[in-house]
Amino acid sequence: MSNKKNIKIIVCIISLIYLTHFSLHNQAIADTNSTCPTLKEQPFKLTKIAEDTYVRKGVHQIFTPQNLAAIANIGFIVGKNSIAVIDTGGSYCDGKRFLSTIRKISNKPIAYVINTHAHPDHTFGNQAFKAENPVFIGHEKLPRFLADRGSLYLNNLKRLVGEQAMSNTKIILPTKTVSDTMTIDLGNKQLILKAYQTAHTDHDLTVYDPSTKIIWAGDLLFAEHTPVIDGSLIGWQKVMDQLAKIPAKYVVPGHGGPLLEWPKALAPQRAYLQTLTKDLRTIIQKGGTMSEAESGAGQSQKKGWVLFDQFNPRNASNGFAELEWE
Ligand SMILES: [Zn+2]
Repeated sequence: MSNKKNIKIIVCIISLIYLTHFSLHNQAIADTNSTCPTLKEQPFKLTKIAEDTYVRKGVHQIFTPQNLAAIANIGFIVGKNSIAVIDTGGSYCDGKRFLSTIRKISNKPIAYVINTHAHPDHTFGNQAFKAENPVFIGHEKLPRFLADRGSLYLNNLKRLVGEQAMSNTKIILPTKTVSDTMTIDLGNKQLILKAYQTAHTDHDLTVYDPSTKIIWAGDLLFAEHTPVIDGSLIGWQKVMDQLAKIPAKYVVPGHGGPLLEWPKALAPQRAYLQTLTKDLRTIIQKGGTMSEAESGAGQSQKKGWVLFDQFNPRNASNGFAELEWE
């Protein structure tokens, strides 16, 4: 081959590499710009809570266009061989920011994405992790719940957070489910997953890391943010008794914290649920109505909880319907 021909080939290869790189780069920028609004007022902030363990604390707000539905605590654990992600955020865009933040810390494969339950603030970031090809794990009753409520949640969030932030948000079901307990291995860390009876929802799952003694409670524990009952008022209190036996030292709640002492952190939520139960039983015994329950029950617990007026009336009416038949 002549030298001239060689040079021509090399020039061709270089321009091809350059063009490919350039267009990939442009594509990445276009993807970010076209689908996800950048929110300077609410940057993605990660907290290191233990060795190889990180949490993003959600804001105590209802869904708004300004928060990208980033209202839940989400986090990840880096093991010797792989990473486990625990909940993915409230939108594709929230999940995407989460993934790029994880990648600044570790390039290990994301082997597992665990959803503590199906509520959209915990699962709607799943799509951002799809290309990482993880095993998506959830409670055995999670798929049924998402089949019932998923599209309703998606439509609600599009209305509240906006089409742009929610674009690309898809409902991703677990590829593996937990009916009782399951252990996953990250190399040097074995995480214990446990499924519960109806409590916050009918499909709550916790993650316990014995190496750090941290339990990830999902929404089985709320701190600061008023607890939300979407399962059973009585069932939740029973599950809290079971939870208290887990030999953890710290807990990451689904909202608030993000790292609290265990089992001490259960106390405020227990007081709230107990008071609500007691108040509702009194109202029911006196022949009171659901609207009396909504305005009266649990009010003595108002101090210390954020978004109380948004969530307590709903908890009271759900609890009323449950306790009415005792
Ligand atoms: Zn929840």
